Amino acid sequence: MTRLLVALVVGLAALTRMGSAQNAPSSTQWYRGNLHAHTINSDGDSSPYDVMAWYKRHGYQFLAITDHNTFTDPAPLDTNPNDAFLLLGGEEVTNSRTVHLNAIGISRVIPAQNGSTATELLQASIDAIRDQGGIPLINHPNFGWAFTATEMLPLKRAALLEIASGHPLVNHQGDGNVPSTERMWDQLLSAGLRVFAVAVDDMHNLREEFTNERPNPGRGWVVARAASLTRDRILAALNSGDFYASTGVMLKDIQVTADSLTLHIDPGTSPGSPPHFRVFFVGQDGRALTVSNDNPARYKFVGGEGYVRARVEDSNGRRAWTQPVFMKATSP
Ligand SMILES: [Zn+2]
Ligand SMILES: [Zn+2]
Repeated sequence: MTRLLVALVVGLAALTRMGSAQNAPSSTQWYRGNLHAHTINSDGDSSPYDVMAWYKRHGYQFLAITDHNTFTDPAPLDTNPNDAFLLLGGEEVTNSRTVHLNAIGISRVIPAQNGSTATELLQASIDAIRDQGGIPLINHPNFGWAFTATEMLPLKRAALLEIASGHPLVNHQGDGNVPSTERMWDQLLSAGLRVFAVAVDDMHNLREEFTNERPNPGRGWVVARAASLTRDRILAALNSGDFYASTGVMLKDIQVTADSLTLHIDPGTSPGSPPHFRVFFVGQDGRALTVSNDNPARYKFVGGEGYVRARVEDSNGRRAWTQPVFMKATSP
């Protein structure tokens, strides 16, 4: 009889910790950050300092300012070493064909890249970002209906894909013919690409009234698990998928063991009418595995899922997405 060995390939840092779960909680923390923000250095309405200050005041621990083809150096802005806030070097590499990628953690400007197809522009940008030790984030594929999974499937060294945004014009839900960006993510994962999903603000506006028509801050973010708040550790967490994406649902913990994925949802503190949560566990090709109303919500691996990820939805429409646990079936 063939025995199926399940090898968990992603979330390596998480798995290592799970191996020594008793000392894990004290050694890592969760840090909330936004990876997409504009200032007056491109088409935003506020200074880099004011944008950074907004995030500091609103419960974030890290931020990348990502102006169009303009590098924002954290050194002159993030000058307080004791404020538990980290500004990462950033830029939105803004190419022709509406092919935009955020460069997270870079140290000098990256010009718009050359290429005759979306795939060429994506790959050239990824390579330029990786060459600086930065983390490439593929932004809003459906903005301008610029590209789909077809154009992303040949990519090498991709890391992050934007699947949710505070920007009102980026069409993340698709139209039924063009897939949603969450569906594109499943297409990439199912083809074996190691890509992790992020939610972002793509914020431009702080000054006027916040409305659904304006790209204001505070709508989409990531929460990364790291031993401390340093550039290298946050970038490593992003690169290895040791984080989750959120538009409002917060998690207390994500546990991956050899046989299960468990989410501990933070129920929040709203008095009187607390939200309810549903957790959708998703496998290869976006297949629905199970739905759970439990907290913690646990999925036990059965083998053959390809990968297992979770999307949490609350009763007010807010969401969180955990990164895939890749499963490889091998015969002894
Ligand atoms: Zn953009
Ligand atoms: Zn942008």
